[in-house]
Amino acid sequence: MRTVITGGAGFIGSHLCDALLAHGHEVVCIDNLLTGSVDNIAHIRDAKFAFVDYDVTNYLYIDGPVDLVLHFASPASPIDYLRWPIQTLKVGAMGTHKALGLARKKGARFLLASTSEVYGDPLIHPQPEGYWGNVNPIGLRGVYDEAKRYAEALTMAYHRYHGVDTKIVRIFNTFGPRMRRDDGRAVPNFIYQAIHGEPLTVYGDGSQTRSFGYITDLVRGLLMLADSNLNEPVNIGNPQEMTVLDMARTLIEICGSKSEIIFRELPEDDPKVRQPDITQAKAKLGWEPQVDVHDALRLTVEWFQGEGSRR
Ligand code: UDP
Repeated sequence: MRTVITGGAGFIGSHLCDALLAHGHEVVCIDNLLTGSVDNIAHIRDAKFAFVDYDVTNYLYIDGPVDLVLHFASPASPIDYLRWPIQTLKVGAMGTHKALGLARKKGARFLLASTSEVYGDPLIHPQPEGYWGNVNPIGLRGVYDEAKRYAEALTMAYHRYHGVDTKIVRIFNTFGPRMRRDDGRAVPNFIYQAIHGEPLTVYGDGSQTRSFGYITDLVRGLLMLADSNLNEPVNIGNPQEMTVLDMARTLIEICGSKSEIIFRELPEDDPKVRQPDITQAKAKLGWEPQVDVHDALRLTVEWFQGEGSRR
């Protein structure tokens, strides 16, 4: 198997590179390092691995056969896509077009990294794949949400019109080693703050909920989906829901920290609830999360205290 992964130097992408190489794939990792980092792939010493520093919104030329294209390139944390709004829209639209074009030309399978953000601030809870979502197209988060919704539409069009064997994963909140401590998300923010004795910044009153899953569970699900015959979107996430305030308290406890919690303004269009309905993943892939969230948070804290602290 020869796999091309866009965004391969990112948090999720780099864990996918490791998993694919462990499964014996040859891996071509493409990333323009806008939000990814070579730190995430520097440990890879494998003749089957190649890194290309390239912006996938431009024409993609890859020599030789390709069996699988994984399109993971995109700023993905709220502060990243607020900082890079045009790039986010471009990689969701033009980048997805180029990645699909590559898959079509090579006769490769294609997997799009989509997101629970396609459900916006959901009016149905938990969110099944059949829910169309509640997205503000012109809000600050719209650049990401609409880019991914367009990417899904384009992917289905390539499947229906060109017959490309495409898959779409809707990824829910995921954490683990290699998250950037400055990517602005709740888990790395809280861990960094707790470790350094700084106050944990909870936005709003912290009653908004998220369902946090661990990176290894996600990667396992992604590989199962890539191997499947499914073409419809599939939610991958851990349905264990908690409030953001509970997450802050849990991380203070795990870090053995004396930090206090302070409250800050809730960002625009911040979803009030989020929880994946994983009926499809269970029934059609036989996938469900295996890692206990507390154990996973402990592992992530250890990483931030060790290797992560040197970044
Ligand atoms: N959040 C917070 N404090 C932070 C960072 C995030 O309270 O320092 C909140 C954020 O407003 C959201 C939740 O935590 O309600 C999850 O945010 P994250 O950026 O991790 O991901 P999202 O699910 O919003 O994409």
